[in-house]
Amino acid sequence: MRNLVDKLELNRTLTKQEFITLIDNRNEELSEYLFEKSRKIAHKYFGNRIYTRGLIEFTNHCKNNCYYCGIRAENNKVERYRLTKEDILECCETGYELGFRTFVLQGGEDLYYSDDTITDIIREIKSRFADCALTLSIGERSYEAYSMFFNAGVDRYLLRHETATESHYRKLHPDKMSLTNRKQCLRNLKEIGYQVGTGFMVGSPFQTTENIAEDLKFIEELSPNMIGIGPFIPHCDTPFRNESKGTLELTTFLIAILRLMIPNALIPSTTALGTIDACGREKGILAGANVVMPNLSPVSVRKKYALYDSKICTGEEAAECRFCLQNRMKRIGYELVIDRGDFKAIE
Ligand code: SAH
Repeated sequence: MRNLVDKLELNRTLTKQEFITLIDNRNEELSEYLFEKSRKIAHKYFGNRIYTRGLIEFTNHCKNNCYYCGIRAENNKVERYRLTKEDILECCETGYELGFRTFVLQGGEDLYYSDDTITDIIREIKSRFADCALTLSIGERSYEAYSMFFNAGVDRYLLRHETATESHYRKLHPDKMSLTNRKQCLRNLKEIGYQVGTGFMVGSPFQTTENIAEDLKFIEELSPNMIGIGPFIPHCDTPFRNESKGTLELTTFLIAILRLMIPNALIPSTTALGTIDACGREKGILAGANVVMPNLSPVSVRKKYALYDSKICTGEEAAECRFCLQNRMKRIGYELVIDRGDFKAIE
């Protein structure tokens, strides 16, 4: 199997069948071999510097019904909330003082925030925090909306494809939703000029190794600037409440593969990874991730943005989260930096 890792390192790709073979034959020793390489590559591009993004979960209203997600429309146990523009700006203010230079506005697909409302919020953030990057993660919108947001100053957009296989997509989403449209949105975002992030859940219900290989091939074809993957974790009030969660071991293995595929990609070590293992985020970094995304949402709403059960960091203030992560990174030899942390092309 080491020869496949070497080949991946050299060519930055494998065939779909080779990806399947590599993933299905992984073991601890192979993972260590892979992680040594992925860490080295991350180090070559980023040194021991870890970028931070301040995550602002500004609404948990959602019109969609993804079977895996805790804030799906049909979950009537969720206490719904929306942050006002002023609330959001306050989060940014706190974040700025703590050294964040990227803000990520994430939410359910909530049309209460019209394209114009979102644009207005963007303009305000970009005028008050001119040296900060702004990332949106609000799902699928029209080409025109994406253009408008970009022209108002948004730098980046996160939209995980969730799974690149049509038949698997159908098992995770109701008929109303469409993988074709999701992929089209990603292409639109790229064409408009955003730094684009995609990704998928690891260990989502019905996922096969072949599905994962297709995710990797899709990512190769799209060539995104950011790649977010994290373990699927069941939520007790969703149809997938009894499904099992994804593993740390497979998630870190895939982070390392992605690092070899796209050496300069911005890859977060996600909160979901920190949720399934007390040192999950550290292990993600040691597998080649280079970004962390602590929560900047007001503590009063944190617990309500529950995409999955037992989410960590829902009780702490932003500052506590920041310093906790800073210490965690320090202990493994990395430092959180005050930097926009933009994607840089390989020279
Ligand atoms: N509405 C936005 C933001 C979605 S939330 C959008 O459609 O892009 C961000 C990510 O959380 C999702 O893309 C999904 O991959 C992940 N997520 C949702 N439910 C999850 C669960 N139960 N376990 C782990 N990750 C989950």
